[in-house]
Amino acid sequence: MYCPFCRALDTKVIDSRLVSDGHQVRRRRECLACHERYTTFESAELVMPRIIKRDGSREPFNEDKMRSGLTRALEKRPVDTEQVELSVNKLKSQMRATGEREITSEMLGNLLMTQLKELDKVAYLRFASVYLSFEDISEFADEIALLGKESLNKGKVGKKASVKT
Ligand SMILES: [Zn+2]
Repeated sequence: MYCPFCRALDTKVIDSRLVSDGHQVRRRRECLACHERYTTFESAELVMPRIIKRDGSREPFNEDKMRSGLTRALEKRPVDTEQVELSVNKLKSQMRATGEREITSEMLGNLLMTQLKELDKVAYLRFASVYLSFEDISEFADEIALLGKESLNKGKVGKKASVKT
């Protein structure tokens, strides 16, 4: 690829390592012409199932859309970008693991919620409240109560994990 600064074609790789749990290679490059440094990411492009929307129409899976959905739910939460990337990769693996050529948007939504629940409870509730479009506040409260129980079952109700109802 061209140097993004001077468009020269000769660059050398000065550092290369696995990131995102081995799903990506991060390369640090230096342009031989202008000596600017920049980073590239490489990952395998695998065929993802298409998404069946609620109205029955199909659309290609959109990774950016999924990433921005996660990011929006995680806004101002203590979850770093690397964890988001890990989640994106995990979700993609789960989608491929279904072996289906098409999956419903509902199924994708459920996978996303499960992933968010692991990552951050507050983000999970934010996403769930929109995604499940709670009819009234009591449904929302039910979901929060359920979360509290699940945390109890896992036996790790810390200061951060507990959700007051
Ligand atoms: Zn350059």
